Amino acid sequence: MSAPEDPSLCDVSEVVRRLASDGERGLTAALAAERLRRDGANALRVMPPRAAWRRMLAQLADPLVYLLLAAAGVALVAWFVEGRQGWPTDAIVVALVVVLNALLGYLQEAKAANAVAALARMTAVSSTVVRDGVPSRIAAAGLVCGDLLLLAEGDAVGADARLLRCASLRVQESSLTGESEAVQKDVATLAQAATPGDRLCMVFKGTAVVQGTGTAIVTATGMASEMGRIASLLDATEEAPTPLQREIAYIGRALGMAAVLISALVVAVILLISDLRSLADVIHVLLLGVSLAVAAVPEGLPAIISVVLALGVLRMARRHAIVKNLASVETLGSTSVIAADKTGTLTRAQMTIVRVLTPSGATTVSGVGYTPQGEFLAGEVPLPATGNLRDEQAAVIGGGCLAGNARLQQAEDLHWAIQGDPTEAAFLVAERKLAGVAAGGVKDVAEDTAAGTVTGRDSPEALRQQRFSRIGELPFTSDRKMMSTLNADHAQGDARVLVCKGAPDVLLLRCTRLRLGTTMVALDETWRQRLLADLATLSEAALRTLAVAYRTLAEDEALNEAAEQRLVFLGMVGIIDPPRHEVAAAVREAHGAGIRVIMITGDHPRTALRIATDLGIVAAGSPVLTGVAMDALDAQALAVAVRHTSVFARVAPRNKLRIVAALQAAGEVVAMTGDGVNDAPALKAADIGIAMGVTGTEVTREAARMILADDNFATIVDAVREGRGVLDNIRKFLRYLLSSNLGEVLTVFLGVVGAGVIGLASPDAVTGGVVVLPLLAAQILWINLVTDAGPALAMGVDPIAGDVMARRPRRRDERVIDARMWFGVVEIGVVMALTSLLTLDIFLPGGLVEGTGDLVLARTACFTVLVFAQLFNCFNARSEDVSAFAQPFSNRWLWATVAASVLLQMAVVHLPVLNVAFGTTPLSLGQWGVCVAMASVVLGFSELRKAVNRWRHAR
Ligand code: ATP
Repeated sequence: MSAPEDPSLCDVSEVVRRLASDGERGLTAALAAERLRRDGANALRVMPPRAAWRRMLAQLADPLVYLLLAAAGVALVAWFVEGRQGWPTDAIVVALVVVLNALLGYLQEAKAANAVAALARMTAVSSTVVRDGVPSRIAAAGLVCGDLLLLAEGDAVGADARLLRCASLRVQESSLTGESEAVQKDVATLAQAATPGDRLCMVFKGTAVVQGTGTAIVTATGMASEMGRIASLLDATEEAPTPLQREIAYIGRALGMAAVLISALVVAVILLISDLRSLADVIHVLLLGVSLAVAAVPEGLPAIISVVLALGVLRMARRHAIVKNLASVETLGSTSVIAADKTGTLTRAQMTIVRVLTPSGATTVSGVGYTPQGEFLAGEVPLPATGNLRDEQAAVIGGGCLAGNARLQQAEDLHWAIQGDPTEAAFLVAERKLAGVAAGGVKDVAEDTAAGTVTGRDSPEALRQQRFSRIGELPFTSDRKMMSTLNADHAQGDARVLVCKGAPDVLLLRCTRLRLGTTMVALDETWRQRLLADLATLSEAALRTLAVAYRTLAEDEALNEAAEQRLVFLGMVGIIDPPRHEVAAAVREAHGAGIRVIMITGDHPRTALRIATDLGIVAAGSPVLTGVAMDALDAQALAVAVRHTSVFARVAPRNKLRIVAALQAAGEVVAMTGDGVNDAPALKAADIGIAMGVTGTEVTREAARMILADDNFATIVDAVREGRGVLDNIRKFLRYLLSSNLGEVLTVFLGVVGAGVIGLASPDAVTGGVVVLPLLAAQILWINLVTDAGPALAMGVDPIAGDVMARRPRRRDERVIDARMWFGVVEIGVVMALTSLLTLDIFLPGGLVEGTGDLVLARTACFTVLVFAQLFNCFNARSEDVSAFAQPFSNRWLWATVAASVLLQMAVVHLPVLNVAFGTTPLSLGQWGVCVAMASVVLGFSELRKAVNRWRHAR
């Protein structure tokens, strides 16, 4: 089998035959599996990812690392020249540190990349195929030639395919042809070869169905598709840096330069004022300078940030919010407005008709959900089996069913489920209630009911289908807010009946008569006012409203929108769509977090306002802006209106784009939901476009930055909380890393440059000169390795602080590190440096402890204090105001990394081999005690600072 060279030139049956498929049942699962093996996945090929060793090497591509390696190289040469005494420890330590750092960076990068890849799998495009006669949804990557593809509005076309059947099928092909107008498809075979844009009987991979339905047979997949032909190998997309990552990169560069300058200064001072005797000493000092620069530059930061963002993304996915890229995690954290669709997101989209209003009166319908159990009550009594009211009610409900495509089924477990649009399914349920076919646990079995004996064959659907055959359809769109079907009425000589259902205010404009009992009456102004009053009562009761109307079309009248005029009004229904129970609390939480919630709906303004009020989105009597009213406003007027309007009703998708633009112009960071294909532009424009995972279309899923796996508003608020938590955690480890690094730099800098001035240290030096080196190069590198990445990563997964949703949203232009945070960083850095240097002094001759004059011991103590001060600082850095003792045990990772660091430090102090490598010497218990006490000063200082902060806030 093989697809014809150009399937658009072959007859459909020929295409099906050549592909050994079946136009009704599709391929067998076995054949599809075999073809998938043969042809490979239906995906555009991408450049092979970079090899692991290349990525590992890339970690070393840093000028400071080059410098470090160069210095180590020189040290090695010097050791060689000077007669190879002992081990070239400096060179070995530097090499080890470089390798370990690269390994850590590599692992973090891989972790972040894995998270992104996992998300790509979660957001993969899917298609509906028929295999073995059964339709199912599969990942588009699994499509093979010969597969029978079912297309519906909002689908992304998964592969190139020849159309077998289609109805009002329009496809947006701009990704392939550049043509922005959607193309109307047609199954007719072409007479001559044409460009893809003109092959109307084909659909192509990567395009989107914007209207109608179709069935097509796959003719080309993957790189053989038109899209594959124009796209040569694609670069495996690496994510562009997020704004936060850019800011951090900038800070990193600035710090790098400062660190290099300071290090150069330190080296210069030592070289100038000390009396270095040998080349080895000079190299030693140079190595110190480079190590200091390496330690001071937070080179691990970008990798840690990617990991923390990626972990945040995975946590969000677990909570049903699938975020497509890392940048969105940040944006979510700054969201200041959530604009949500009402139906399905704020409400359950579980529609039940509860009121039916017809010209002769009204009924209430009991029962909720899709189980057709309940009855029609006129006042307190059941609706009579005959009479005007009954006829009218039956006409509205029956008409509503005729003008819809949903299906109602009872599963094996007797549970009733629907397929298709819930609003349409509500009519089917009401139809059964009216006919008196109660669920009764058995499907379509004869039962005595008020309406007489109804047998399985006589179920209301069956009766309807016997009497009417569908001729055509004008589909529902959120723009039109109505839909129509054209049906041949076999009971009336195949008369062509156009049945319309839609928003009552829209439909009423198209009606000129109404049906009262069995007679037609002119729909005059009095009737119109009465019906509008009816509509108002339904809307005010928070009911979704729909009207039904009809007309018989003449033989020669075409089915188009012009035919939806001069209709006969039958009546209207009020549908209850209960709010999701979690929403009210989520709205409160959003409000508490300074986030505005906006409801956008196609529903009637009164219904919208009532539900918005019930959910706490707005206060009763708040303004509501309709789509039509919006159209009359220019951009400026709209900008003013969006400031105090939070309910938008009877909105068409194009209005949504303007709402987003107006909000963004006012500086808001907007998260907006959407489900229909026309929502895609607004979703693209929003800062966070949110698509519905359950009811949404494939096209919106592609346009969105986040997908709600459960369609639930509360999940958006959860995601915002998670986003804020991630930003909060990033700030925590920034605070930690920056203050700790500053502590190291200042220790060396002040030790070398300032010691003489303040007279802290006694004259001694690495080689007996006048400058004390508080730390050796190897020790600096050790601190960098042991206390940087581990605790910072652990802080990145800190539990979300209880008050993140009590703060206002972060402004779009707000810096991650603000002035207050810089101030705190400097304070802690200074305290760390002073305590470390003080320890050095204490242990040197004339100092408080022992005063042995043993420089190695003093340095070991100073080194240990600096490491421990950083470990104490982990707990400080978790908040600017909250005490480290508030919830000390809530992060076990932090404790684990701290414990590991403590053990490593004990090893470096007590293991002889490490003593040699790192220039340390064992400490006694008392000396340890002094070190820990000195290191804890930083904790005490920070606690004091926080207490002052809290006291200031409280005032
Ligand atoms: P949203 O999802 O944006 O909150 P919505 O789902 O209420 O809004 P639409 O689906 O655009 O908005 O519906 C708008 C109006 O169109 C409804 O109030 C109803 O009167 C009418 N309507 C909805 N669904 C159908 C349908 N399947 N057929 C006919 N009319 C419909």
